[in-house]
Amino acid sequence: MSKTVITRFAPSPTGFLHIGGARTALFNWLYAKHTGGKMLLRIEDTDRQRSTPEATAAIIDGLKWLELDWEGEPISQFARADRHREVAEELVRRGKAYYCYATPEELEQMREEARAAGKPPRYDGRWRDRDPSEAPAGVKPAIRIKAPLDGETVVHDLVQGDVRFPNKDLDDFIILRSDGTPTYMHAVVVDDHDMGVTHVIRGDDHLTNAARQTIIYEAMGWDVPVWAHVPLIHGSDGAKLSKRHGALGVDAYRAMGYLPSALRNYLVRLGWSHGDDEVMTTEQMIEWFDVKDINRSAARFDFQKLEALNGIH
Ligand code: GLU
Repeated sequence: MSKTVITRFAPSPTGFLHIGGARTALFNWLYAKHTGGKMLLRIEDTDRQRSTPEATAAIIDGLKWLELDWEGEPISQFARADRHREVAEELVRRGKAYYCYATPEELEQMREEARAAGKPPRYDGRWRDRDPSEAPAGVKPAIRIKAPLDGETVVHDLVQGDVRFPNKDLDDFIILRSDGTPTYMHAVVVDDHDMGVTHVIRGDDHLTNAARQTIIYEAMGWDVPVWAHVPLIHGSDGAKLSKRHGALGVDAYRAMGYLPSALRNYLVRLGWSHGDDEVMTTEQMIEWFDVKDINRSAARFDFQKLEALNGIH
């Protein structure tokens, strides 16, 4: 018997729920419903500078208004910091990660050299095989994962197909900062694993992250989830979607009197379609939606279509 599908919506609470986030949530929700699985909600509030309780409340409010529900309580990523640390240290014990004592000056020098050579900055692995007894006094170490030195990491993606990343481009990245806080890359893997997430559906701006995250999964011997990276939404002119294209936060559409069913019908079409411009009931969406039918090209946001749909509802 195949495993129950568990998806998640994992927003960073740094602002209101925007069109892109709402679409990600809707796709995760639909796929969970379609397969008889469940969707979880994880608030990625690890960045203490940028996360606010108001943004968390606005996101939850927006999801509720769109009638997208999730299983259990929202999970705070920040509250799991001890667990993130524990796994990072476990990786060191297993020889899959190491303490890096490079000073900010050394790191700056590496960046400088890369810039001068016209290359992207990369860490040169100088602490990979050194013994921590050689550590300079007073420097707090970060923990870096040992990325494979050759070969490639393949992201098997339901939308993008097999995407190959040469390992030499994925250097030994930091999983735990010297102040003991986890990086996004690491926290996401630990949380998705612990929450039993089977399918990660999110924007394709995270595709390279999926390669790095795969390295962490493999280092821990954990199952890699099924990936589905959805092309980002563009404005009508093909440029990155912004307010000037009429793309507002979900709360703004709500304030203007849009109906949740109209917005859902519009959002689902941003990257997925079923037949022509028919209006779907929620039951039909659930029945017809499948991640593997998501388009590989970027969807364009069209405010007039959204207005027209709202008129029908
Ligand atoms: N918190 C991330 C974001 O809002 C998403 C992380 C993920 O889906 O893996 O972009």
